[in-house]
Amino acid sequence: MDPVVVVGASLAGLSAIDALRAGGHDGDVVLLESAPSLPSDRPPLSKQVLAGSMEPEAARQPLAARLDELDVEVRWGTRVDSFDAASLQLRCATGTELRASGVVVATGAAPRALPGPTLAGVHVLRTMDDCLALRADLDRGPDRVVVVGAGFIGAEVAATCRELGLEVTLLEGAPAPMVRVLPVQVGSFVADLHRAHGVDVRLGVGVEGLDGADGRVRAVRLADGTSIPAEVVVVGIGVVPGTGWLEGSGVPLGNGVTCDETCLAAPGVVAAGDVAEWFNPHFGERMRVEQWEHAIEHGAAAGRRLLAGDGPGAPFGSVPWFWSDQYDRKLQMAGRPSAADEVHVLEGSLEEHRFAVAFRRGDRCTGVLGVNRPRHVVQARMRLAESLDWAPIEELFT
Ligand SMILES: Cc1cc2nc3c(=O)[nH]c(=O)nc-3n(C[C@H](O)[C@H](O)[C@H](O)COP(=O)(O)OP(=O)(O)OC[C@H]3O[C@@H](n4cnc5c(N)ncnc54)[C@H](O)[C@@H]3O)c2cc1C
Repeated sequence: MDPVVVVGASLAGLSAIDALRAGGHDGDVVLLESAPSLPSDRPPLSKQVLAGSMEPEAARQPLAARLDELDVEVRWGTRVDSFDAASLQLRCATGTELRASGVVVATGAAPRALPGPTLAGVHVLRTMDDCLALRADLDRGPDRVVVVGAGFIGAEVAATCRELGLEVTLLEGAPAPMVRVLPVQVGSFVADLHRAHGVDVRLGVGVEGLDGADGRVRAVRLADGTSIPAEVVVVGIGVVPGTGWLEGSGVPLGNGVTCDETCLAAPGVVAAGDVAEWFNPHFGERMRVEQWEHAIEHGAAAGRRLLAGDGPGAPFGSVPWFWSDQYDRKLQMAGRPSAADEVHVLEGSLEEHRFAVAFRRGDRCTGVLGVNRPRHVVQARMRLAESLDWAPIEELFT
């Protein structure tokens, strides 16, 4: 029998293999990964590894330990170039072709870059190599680091650089940081937090381009005609789902791989993690979630879906969960609020930088965010997993 082929050896891919084995699949599994060796766990790359408080090897350990337990043939340095969903045939950049009995798409996402020529001193952050290259530039003691984009990676990088004693400017086109995951009112707290730590936060600013000399970045040019001198620039303006190899394959693509509520994209093809958009029946909406714990749960659900074969498979309903560490604050959020949701402060206050807030849309609670309030968020997460009704969440805090 042809092997199950898993493309992408990170959280979602390894979790899918876990679930396949746990569900009794004893046939061959081949894992194809474009990186030359096991990818690092990513969260420490904007936090401890960048700060120098964790060795790179330690960030590789979590995935290495999981891989050791799996009975799988791994092919490192093997980028899949194209795929035909009708025949489940994959073609690798090496020229190798492979026919699969089932395929797990777990190719994650890649950072967006700013247009323009490549300049030394300009960084994105996704891999261990990205992290070590940035760290080397920070070790040279630049006069100023400019972070373009105040999403959670940009905000974490700004915090880490500040804690290393560097001058930091954080630029964001939106009216508040982290607006993709937080309503503006709450995102504004992130701006305050950074300002309180001495970051020059500029909101609602457009970046026109980068100026360089001798191949190295010198300044960030803004849409209002001004420039900010910069020796190091970190670009955190979002990611592009890793679907290039699926163009023309017959796998439906939209905001990533388009899956049904069971993680199925096409017969015999499932997708999970950062690359996959699916219908989340718990929220009654389609979503693509770029979060660590989601990649694990989604990968496992995709593995189980493959085992269900031609059967209907189980819907994957979930309450997304993420955390972000900035200075001495731990942000934890359960759920999926949108910018338009009402914000209810349940504990503490935004001004104190220690609070729990819930997001409300009609009779539903769409999420709960805690800042240094872990117990509250964990409890709310359990309630949200039972139902999104507003009343039980309000009760929890009264
Ligand atoms: C710096 C950083 C910090 C983060 N911090 C947090 C955090 O604090 N909290 C949180 O919840 N989330 C965090 N995340 C997000 C989290 O790490 C991701 O959601 C998670 O890694 C997604 O896992 P994945 O398996 O879907 O994809 P990925 O981890 O992106 O893995 C995809 C793999 O597929 C491989 N691949 C891609 N294309 C091909 C191809 N054509 N052929 C073969 N292989 C291919 C890639 O090399 C990669 O190894 C962070 C992410 C980053 C980058």
